[in-house]
Amino acid sequence: MIINNKKFRISFLYLLLLIVVGIFVFRLAQLQIVQGDQYADLAQNKMVQKIINPAPRGEILSADGERLAKNRIGYSVELIYANMEDGKRNTVLLELYQLLEENEEEFADDFPIVIENNAFAFTFDREEREWKKENEIPQEATAAEAIALLRDRYNVKEEVNNQVAIEAIENVHLDSTLPIRITEGDAVYTFRTNERSWKESYGFQEEELDFSPEQSFEKIRESFQIDESYSDEEARNIMVFRQLIKDQGFRSWEPVEIVEDIDLKTVLEIDSRIHTLPGISVKAKPIREYPYGSMASHILGYMGKVGEADVEEGYQMNSVKGISGIESAFEEYLKGQDGESLTVTDYLGRPQDDEYNEETNEAIPGSDLYLTIDLKLQQAAEKALKEQLDAIQKPGNAPNAESGAAVVMDVNTGAVLAMASYPAYDPNLFATGISTEDWNRLNVTVDDPLYPRPLFNNATLTALQPGSTFKPFMSIAGLEEGAITRSSTIYCGGVHSVFTQFSCLGRHGNETVVDAIRDSCNVFFYETGYRLGVDKLEEYARRFGLGQRTGLEISESRGYLATRTDKKQVWTYSLSDYIRYTIGITGIGTIINDEGEEQQVYQSYAIAKEVFEEVDESYSGYGEVYRKVAEIMEEHNVKETTYLHRITDYVLAGRWVATDTINASIGQGGNSMTPIQLASYISTLVNGGKRYEAHLVDHVVDYQGNTIYKNESNLLEEMDFDQRNVDAIKEGMRQVTTRSTGAYAFRGFDHANIGVGGKTGTAQYGGDRVDNTAWFVSFAPFDEPEIAVVSMIVQGRTSSNAVPVARQIMDAYFGLGDYSQEKEIEADLSEDEETQGIQNNQNELIGE
Ligand SMILES: [Zn+2]
Repeated sequence: MIINNKKFRISFLYLLLLIVVGIFVFRLAQLQIVQGDQYADLAQNKMVQKIINPAPRGEILSADGERLAKNRIGYSVELIYANMEDGKRNTVLLELYQLLEENEEEFADDFPIVIENNAFAFTFDREEREWKKENEIPQEATAAEAIALLRDRYNVKEEVNNQVAIEAIENVHLDSTLPIRITEGDAVYTFRTNERSWKESYGFQEEELDFSPEQSFEKIRESFQIDESYSDEEARNIMVFRQLIKDQGFRSWEPVEIVEDIDLKTVLEIDSRIHTLPGISVKAKPIREYPYGSMASHILGYMGKVGEADVEEGYQMNSVKGISGIESAFEEYLKGQDGESLTVTDYLGRPQDDEYNEETNEAIPGSDLYLTIDLKLQQAAEKALKEQLDAIQKPGNAPNAESGAAVVMDVNTGAVLAMASYPAYDPNLFATGISTEDWNRLNVTVDDPLYPRPLFNNATLTALQPGSTFKPFMSIAGLEEGAITRSSTIYCGGVHSVFTQFSCLGRHGNETVVDAIRDSCNVFFYETGYRLGVDKLEEYARRFGLGQRTGLEISESRGYLATRTDKKQVWTYSLSDYIRYTIGITGIGTIINDEGEEQQVYQSYAIAKEVFEEVDESYSGYGEVYRKVAEIMEEHNVKETTYLHRITDYVLAGRWVATDTINASIGQGGNSMTPIQLASYISTLVNGGKRYEAHLVDHVVDYQGNTIYKNESNLLEEMDFDQRNVDAIKEGMRQVTTRSTGAYAFRGFDHANIGVGGKTGTAQYGGDRVDNTAWFVSFAPFDEPEIAVVSMIVQGRTSSNAVPVARQIMDAYFGLGDYSQEKEIEADLSEDEETQGIQNNQNELIGE
């Protein structure tokens, strides 16, 4: 039924597109002269041209059939230089400029000379002034002085040369490119090299390279024969388009796109002036549209202009492709295949229908994608996350909580039913090429992983310590391995009996696993981890997919697992940075990777890896390790004792110790996980041990209605847990939502008929500067779980701040509360109860 409807819709859209293309075909762009002879024979005013009929891109639909990404018809203005009459080009360009300006159409202005208060100025100078101001560099500073200042500011060691210093500052401190380059030993601003290459592109001679903005302007004005009848402003407007033509790799017979997605009113005006605008044409083409704006933006992704490499692979110039998210991951399915036809036209590009018109290739529309995402649930998840962030961003609560995520997963298939990340962005901004202003606003390059970044998918890319949400995992590993039993107890006297530096937030006395989950008793889980040992812990974590990608179709971070292997890996990276940026060993080296193949890496990384492999745990004691380090480093000509001592420190710090196991047992230490990973882990736990590949795309249907891709819910791991063990953990998690840290947010939930289990987690990010991460993992219904819901708030301070997000999502899924059809009027809580609840929540600190 759905498929039939869609088939109709596709053909309708396709037909509409063809009709519109038909209307404007006499000014169609993407024209290429197939027969050069005929081009030369312009006197006859006839030529055969190849016309590209763009294929409509496939749509992206939610599981319930709502269109999340579709196409609409847009119009762009194109210009074919060869079709413009000699001597009239400037008039035409100026007329077009004025027409577009009057109609308030926005187009790129990259001409680098501007007229401000009747004076000419280079934008290069303006950019230099602004960069210096933003970076607190004195305006008069030379490039060499600027580097010296930055080296000092970022504490770059003296022995490092300027080239390495620039790389270090860019990669380590700024995460962006410095406008300074080293050329033949001298530091120069790229503003200056850009000015120079721009002048060279206009044929400036050596002695003209220091021309002022005004001199440069006059020279270019002359070369384009823009005579004195034009004012300076008018001359500049003409140059804006001249620059655009130059930038697009101008060849006289290829169309240059001047402006995209103009109003219909502008289209009609250009149409009415076609005789005074030879060479200018309007092209109809499908433009991506996201009817729900920023909703699900991190899932859908965004589009961007194709690059030169794409054109070589068969994309049309000026076309777009998926850059991120599903738009990128399923590009091959979505893009379809453009059609072509050959048409005889006159010199204005008007087809002569009576003569020759042959369609050589029909356009094949792209295929439609059906996501596993449920529109209503997605909306509810985004609303819940946003509302909670707004509610807690207050002094005394969580003033720095500005980003977060929520994931809903089908525990029996791995299908993602909703995935929210905040802040979000509107992918419509990218549909026709994003403006620099919008890009700078969205593409945050602040040197801080916790800074809210709209383009960043927190649900799949933000990996943080899971804190106590790790405890149900510890429980199943401990129970299955016999380190603990369902009835055995561990005594909590406030600290661990052997490693007394590890404490609990309470003195819980004798606790069973159910009690320990409910009370989030640290001592219970320290002891469980201690009995299990790091190797068993690692084995279970791997089988649960922790510290690994879940297999989602869009990009995700694998996070880190606190294991011997990962700890060594982390310290190998750190040592590599030290060798590269402090010792100053750059260049490329080779390693043998895990697959036994040679792989090119930074030389510093190759050395770091060698050090960690050679100096294994058979070398014990500082002296023994130091001597081996010295022996290895001598081969790389590093003999300074300061360096050797520091490398020895790295090697020792990278070794696994018993306290690492204790720390890892409550989800601290080297553990960092993404929300999607935790959703997958909870699903695996409550379904009895089946780990499914996480996925967002259910199936793909081509334009003829055939299903050409279907996700079969891949089973990645099957552990077959003892159901009684799973039930005990579920019971502990139920008590969290009825009697403990989750109870306040779940008051009034249908505990009797639906039932819910959860676990809160508050995790330190490191340092006092940053507030704790708030986590909540949960599942429902209790008896036969269908969904796992995970919420995470970066700098949410306390886990109770994450619980209400999951509660609202559960309500939406089960049609309760605000989401109930016949909304029940809930009795207001009395003030006493409210205060009581808040106090309960504030008892929870790190580890609970
Ligand atoms: Zn305890």
